Amino acid sequence: MLRATPAPDFDAIVVGAGFAGLYMLHRLRSMGLSARVLEQGGGVGGTWYWNRYPGARCDLDSVEYSYQFSDDLQQEWRWSERFAAQPEILRYLEHVADRFDLRRDIRFGKTVTEAAFDEAAGCWRIATADGARLSATYCIMATGCLSVPNRPAFDGLDRFQGEWYHTGAWPHEAVSFAGKRVGIVGTGSSAVQAIPVIAAEARHLTVFQRQASYSIPARNAPLGDAEYAAIRARYGEMRRRARETPSGCWWSANLVAAAEMSAEERERELEARWQTGGLCFYGVFKDVLVNPEANEIAAEFLRSKIRAQVLDPEVAALLTPRSVVGCKRICLDTDYFATFNRPDVTLVDISDAPIEEITRTGLRTRRDHYELDTMVFAIGFDAMTGPLLRIDIRGRGGRTLQAKWADGPRTYLGLAVEGFPNLFTITGPTSPSVLASMVPAIEQHAEWVADCIAHARASARPRIEATRAAEAAWIAHHEEAAGGTLFPACNSWYVGANVDGKPRRVMPYTAGFAAYVEKCDAVAASDYEGFSLSAA
Ligand code: NAP
Repeated sequence: MLRATPAPDFDAIVVGAGFAGLYMLHRLRSMGLSARVLEQGGGVGGTWYWNRYPGARCDLDSVEYSYQFSDDLQQEWRWSERFAAQPEILRYLEHVADRFDLRRDIRFGKTVTEAAFDEAAGCWRIATADGARLSATYCIMATGCLSVPNRPAFDGLDRFQGEWYHTGAWPHEAVSFAGKRVGIVGTGSSAVQAIPVIAAEARHLTVFQRQASYSIPARNAPLGDAEYAAIRARYGEMRRRARETPSGCWWSANLVAAAEMSAEERERELEARWQTGGLCFYGVFKDVLVNPEANEIAAEFLRSKIRAQVLDPEVAALLTPRSVVGCKRICLDTDYFATFNRPDVTLVDISDAPIEEITRTGLRTRRDHYELDTMVFAIGFDAMTGPLLRIDIRGRGGRTLQAKWADGPRTYLGLAVEGFPNLFTITGPTSPSVLASMVPAIEQHAEWVADCIAHARASARPRIEATRAAEAAWIAHHEEAAGGTLFPACNSWYVGANVDGKPRRVMPYTAGFAAYVEKCDAVAASDYEGFSLSAA
């Protein structure tokens, strides 16, 4: 007698309970599907659960770095500042989890180690580090873009007698720097936020810089009641307008190329965006990210601002990047450069004298030894592909994602992967993700995935997989678009250059959020063109 294959435990398993996983769960449940979220942390929040380092804030205005799927939520929540600090963002996500009763379907402390597609049963079999085994028809990776911290792989770290921390895995307990000689490695967005705060508390702060960063004043400020009332009144309109822009952000982009403006017009535009603060600087010229000459004008403007803020010309020179601006994410700061005017802060250039080892009492570069009580590693993440590749993901025929992506990520729309049926990636590589306004990008993906699953089920073809041809065409388009930009010009995490051995590929989609959404919508409208749908 034939034994019926047992039904999977759930319709869908979602990995991760950050912005993406929470909304994905909400969408799936509202469609009447059974879903389980597996989250490695002890609470919701994802990025905002782990990145508790001093000074951590979002770099997009809080009012847009938040969900829009529920106007009630949007209207009732009150952000206190232009750029919310980590505790407030985490409170927001906890509020969302409670308000939509999401926690009952989330299991915390569950690190997913394996996900394998069972072809006979037509479902995903998921294993967690603590030995749990679950199955689901669909597996949705809401694992984040910046959620695997780069391990500090410095010789001798285990010998260090003081405390050390990674900004991306900060302890929940308060960390005191009072009276301490602190060293921080890295000068990216995390460090740029942390350095002024740590400097204000530590006895001495030594900053180890490999490449200088461009940074723009955040101009963070409390949001007043009148200002907030105006935002609430225009929320819907601002959201709608943002969806039509390349970045998906509220700020407006200048649609004129640098060469079409007079020197005075360019200076006015540059200065206005500098004064506004925030990432609107990305919109300074239409061609700032594609034309080296336009880029150099913007870069030189930012360099002059560094020279104006840093008193010691030698220190200013070290803090001044020579590279293209924007092909590494521009940092936002509050008093970053001015911090180097403090007598208790030292900048150490390690571009030509790398860190050789960590000693019992500090850090040795090729040039010197530095005595330290505490070390902070703000050295970034194995971005975008890292969160997926550290899970042993096996698709049809037992093929691993690691093997498939050995030369770089290949996806269809950053949402699906040929050979891996019923697997979806929220803001996966080759989607706009980190180059768009992150939360709207997440919502667009979660909604697209939910609609896709609804369509597959309704048409009695629950198995859905990207075709090889569609994936190849998407990658060709993605690479052509990226090749027309300045993103390949930098050694940044956007191209995987910050992780030894990682294939160098521009990972986020560079042709703009609005164009991308249009493509996703067109695919959905044409019976999910580029996917093959079949019965189980
Ligand atoms: P990051 O931008 O990758 O910066 C890492 C820093 O560590 C860089 O200065 C890098 O130098 C340095 N570094 C890495 N490995 C090193 C080594 N072995 N020796 C010496 N220096 C080393 O990482 P992040 O600052 O954590 O930021 C990552 C992204 O997260 C940001 O770009 C942003 O998208 C997001 N983020 C946003 C905010 C915000 O403002 N809301 C805050 C934090 C993070 P090189 O430049 O030479 O590689």
